[in-house]
Amino acid sequence: MTAYRGRFAPSPTGPLHAGSLVAALASWLDARAHRGQWLVRIEDVDGPRCPPGMDEFILGQLAALGLLPDEPPVWQSRRGALYQAALERLVAAGQAYGCACTRAEIAAAAGPRPKHGELVYPGTCRQGTHGRPARAWRLRVQGRVDWRDRRLGPQSQELQAEVGDFVLKRADGLWAYQLAVVVDDAEQGITDVVRGADLADNTPRQIALQRALGLPTPRYLHTPLVLAADGHKLSKQNGAAALDLGDPAARLREAATRLGLAPLPAGSSTLAETLAALVPLWAAACGSEGAPA
Ligand code: GLU
Repeated sequence: MTAYRGRFAPSPTGPLHAGSLVAALASWLDARAHRGQWLVRIEDVDGPRCPPGMDEFILGQLAALGLLPDEPPVWQSRRGALYQAALERLVAAGQAYGCACTRAEIAAAAGPRPKHGELVYPGTCRQGTHGRPARAWRLRVQGRVDWRDRRLGPQSQELQAEVGDFVLKRADGLWAYQLAVVVDDAEQGITDVVRGADLADNTPRQIALQRALGLPTPRYLHTPLVLAADGHKLSKQNGAAALDLGDPAARLREAATRLGLAPLPAGSSTLAETLAALVPLWAAACGSEGAPA
């Protein structure tokens, strides 16, 4: 059996908040419960959206919470050569193609927005750009992806109808999240992805990309989202407050409650005691392969 390797992969667009801590803690607990390794990867491919120093701020927040990675963190902004090599392989194999369409052209051709809020690319450049220069690069998708989430159970997505040929490298030259995350999860030997449920819809795209690149598919567990008072997902965009780390053990207990874990036994009060006490609770809630409800 391959040794467990998990990761937490924050985008440093803002500080950790109560919602991102739930994903961080769940991935850390799952790694510890499996006696595995836990890595941190800074997903800063979208540089313009990442304020300077936010990466170090997040690493400091994780350290203050006692969530220390087993290997030095990696930064996606330094790994462009890996993404370029993957794109070149896909292009050489006819799995990816250059796309000359502007956003306005896609919007005009694509019809109404699907539930992901992203336009389904109508496939205009699938057979070539007719002499126009390529702006972006897309994966040629087909059919349906069936997969199983450890918490959500069996899932399925009609890739071509629901998502379409999706972007690997953007028109502004930035790497798309989908390509970077798939290349990195494989390159880092990640066996288990534990992350927020807002990313569950991305999983079929990532599985399609893994298959196109001949890479293994990790197990997936998508954790419950933390909702803001207005009922929307708590996010940096809707002003989620940065975590108050004056009492980090209290923040961990709150995150554990949001993960559906039983209350901690009395006496688990320091940070180290709290973390140590949470591991068996997570393991018990997960059973052999599942995950807390
Ligand atoms: N960087 C993504 C985020 O912060 C998470 C990616 C992942 O866990 O796959 O939302």
